[in-house]
Amino acid sequence: LAGPTTLQLQTRFAQELPELALRWQAEPAPDPSLLVLNEPLAAELGLDPAWLRDPEGVRLLLGLHVPAGATPVAQAYAGHQFGGYSPRLGDGRALLLGELVDADGRLRDIHLKGSGRTPFARGGDGLAAVGPMLREYVISEAMHALGIPTTRSLAVVATGRQVRRETVLPGAVLTRVASSHLRVGSFQYARATGDLDLLRRLADHAIARHHPGAGEDEQPYLALLRAVIGVQAALVAQWMLAGFIHGVMNTDNMTISGESIDYGPCAFMEAYDPTTVYSSIDVGGRYAYRNQPGVAQWNLARLAETLLPLVDEDEERAVELATETLGSFAGEYDAAFAAGMRRKLGLTGAVEDETLVPLVSDLFSLMREARADHTSFFRSLGPAARGDAEAAREVVLDLAGFDAWLNRWRALGPDPEAMDRVNPVYIPRNYLVEEALTAGTEGDLDPLHQLLEAVTDPYRERPGLERYATPAPEDFGRTYRTFCGT
Ligand code: AMP
Ligand code: MG
Ligand code: MG
Repeated sequence: LAGPTTLQLQTRFAQELPELALRWQAEPAPDPSLLVLNEPLAAELGLDPAWLRDPEGVRLLLGLHVPAGATPVAQAYAGHQFGGYSPRLGDGRALLLGELVDADGRLRDIHLKGSGRTPFARGGDGLAAVGPMLREYVISEAMHALGIPTTRSLAVVATGRQVRRETVLPGAVLTRVASSHLRVGSFQYARATGDLDLLRRLADHAIARHHPGAGEDEQPYLALLRAVIGVQAALVAQWMLAGFIHGVMNTDNMTISGESIDYGPCAFMEAYDPTTVYSSIDVGGRYAYRNQPGVAQWNLARLAETLLPLVDEDEERAVELATETLGSFAGEYDAAFAAGMRRKLGLTGAVEDETLVPLVSDLFSLMREARADHTSFFRSLGPAARGDAEAAREVVLDLAGFDAWLNRWRALGPDPEAMDRVNPVYIPRNYLVEEALTAGTEGDLDPLHQLLEAVTDPYRERPGLERYATPAPEDFGRTYRTFCGT
């Protein structure tokens, strides 16, 4: 396992794409203390957890100990935020320390969030507060445990610095691990420079790291677009199946790898309602639960636009090819969602789409009418498949309608064991997340660790964790808002 002298970070992004990489350094932390460390992830990365807990390891997690040969950089990117284009966003409070080759030989970005102002900070202070960094930690690790592609969280370190928000809060740095931080916004930035060589290098870098098959295609950049469409359609389908609402699906928050990124005002939906919005800044509901597939497609169209000059010299031809490729999103999304619904309903045998589609939509109508808790309702269908529908019947309002639905579904032979492996018991419920963050901000990390214990092993029901499987009290659920950019 790597310690201070043996840790090797690569500088591939910085070297291959210097126009997108601004050498920078983290701000010193007056009084660092490690709040949470992800030991299994450290092991995956070949890092010695004992060393990471040492003062020098903590300095690495803050970006203050830079391993020999590493060059921390702030990454440049642009992006559409709530539909409005910003030509220059970039890492305002984050740094890429470098890339590490993990135990499986994969290249992983080691990235810091909350490490101080960079030249991309604009009006921001470059800092992050303990609460939101713990939030990203717990949500990203829960997503990973649910099998949803995501950036990971290695650690949160309190800096001892005060952060001014509506109140004064303790500051923190999150160490994030990702297969890369290439975003749709990275391509928008490169394209806007007008430098085609840079755009091509960025696309080649993305192909090499994430979609090597595209490199074999006679139209590699169109194949790259097709590959990103594929991973994003699959990703957003998984969000929808889990009831996850990202909250801020701006193009700078959409990866080329297909990992979920940037856990700001995100939340898991409790009462099933497709119009659900939790983010306080999403006033128009642009990023509401049901809008997510459409927004993903819109974002991918922005990616497609950036690639046009690489697709064909003839712009009209390039547009034609890119448009045709974008057309694959809906089919890919529908297929991924339907496959996921088959799993959630335990339909392991052959079931025609003509049977599945109305079965699913009728179930969602019953759930919506009853404001059924998304997670626990699907979990209660496992027992229902075994013949005990009591828990599910307690939730629905239209009992006759539900019984008729149960008969249609049971006739298809659902497999309850298979269902229990895909319908989680434990998700990071909003009220439990808030409770853990409030305590964590005051220095008590026990609720966070208990929550992590539940959500990092989400499918195995365990005694003593009943609270973590229970929807929020009504008053909490209905008024819940999440806040962004803190
Ligand atoms: P986000 O909404 O988290 O995707 O961030 C959008 C942009 O705002 C990115 O360019 C961030 O780097 C920047 N940003 C967010 N918060 C801060 C902050 N406190 N200081 C500097 N830049 C920030
Ligand atoms: Mg972002
Ligand atoms: Mg953010």
